[in-house]
Amino acid sequence: MAHKCETLDCGKEATLQCPTCLKLGIPGSYFCSQVCFKGFWKEHKVIHALAEGAAKPKVDNTEAGYNPWPHYRFTGKLRPYPQTSKRNVPENIERPDYADHPSGRAASEEAMRGNTSIKVLDDDEIEAMRVASRLGRECLDEAGKAVEVGVTTDELDRLVHEAAIERDCYPSPLNYYNFPKSCCTSVNEVICHGIPDLRPLQDGDICNIDVTVYHHGFHGDLNETFFVGNVSEKHKKLVRVTYESLCKAIELVRPGVKYREIGNVIQKHVAPHGFSVVKSYCGHGIHRLFHTAPNVPHYAKNSAVGVMKAGHCFTIEPMISEGVSKNEQWPDNWTAVTGDGLYSAQFEQTLLVTDNGCEILTRRREHNGQPWFMDKI
Ligand SMILES: [Zn+2]
Ligand SMILES: [Zn+2]
Repeated sequence: MAHKCETLDCGKEATLQCPTCLKLGIPGSYFCSQVCFKGFWKEHKVIHALAEGAAKPKVDNTEAGYNPWPHYRFTGKLRPYPQTSKRNVPENIERPDYADHPSGRAASEEAMRGNTSIKVLDDDEIEAMRVASRLGRECLDEAGKAVEVGVTTDELDRLVHEAAIERDCYPSPLNYYNFPKSCCTSVNEVICHGIPDLRPLQDGDICNIDVTVYHHGFHGDLNETFFVGNVSEKHKKLVRVTYESLCKAIELVRPGVKYREIGNVIQKHVAPHGFSVVKSYCGHGIHRLFHTAPNVPHYAKNSAVGVMKAGHCFTIEPMISEGVSKNEQWPDNWTAVTGDGLYSAQFEQTLLVTDNGCEILTRRREHNGQPWFMDKI
């Protein structure tokens, strides 16, 4: 695809790339000519400072002129910021098959596509899932405790990445279908799959951190939405109701229950508040594969296949929006945002179906900065 010149109101086809951006690993800075590059330099160079962490948190990137997609109509107020370059994972840490694939394809998952049979884990596999899930929880808590006004989502990503490595884990999102970072950070109207970047968190933001780690062949996956500074009452309520909907869904889990029933419980809880359930993204089976059968929709009257059985491992991760359930994607092909720009919240746990109920493998074990009403799981 041809790139467009970054100079405002130019729009010509552009092939020249800013050498400083290339050096810093900032994607998407193109100019049509030296004239445009020089003319826009004053505005453009601000992103270098941002990328190097030299800028003060108050810089507004739209004023600074950083907009990688001048022709995209954003649904809300959030904007992308420059990203830092890809982080490394030491060679001695066991890696999933997609970690070194040029397009990040997970061949092991693709081999199972279309197969709806759900793996029943044996005792050793269950123990491995307990360990991976507990380690994933520890990494999320490290990042959660750091959430504060002025902290960038890139910094949260660095904390998750380093916490994973310290625990002999590979951060599962890294290079999964070429996802560029080690966790997802989804702020305000971002539903899921937000890419950590150099945007400093602002007072009143809500920020979801989604962490998955791969340890000795198994993935553990969880996420929580955190408050940044003083969050409005309506957004606090959105987050609380989302959290409650996950708690209610988990109460349902035991052998013999159909996977399609989960969505009924979630929608029934959130709809009376005027909130909507996102339909495009679902919970999933998880073990040796990051995403596999069963598919677990969070909306009512879905037609998910499968019945719960002791030894199944899967996630429930409702994404609940303040307004419409419709979503769209930013041109980065990852960031999912609400169609109306209103906020969206999410919580996720990895679960093991047991003989008489379930074990919440990624449950919280210590205080991680969340308020009192999230003390259940
Ligand atoms: Zn998940
Ligand atoms: Zn997740």
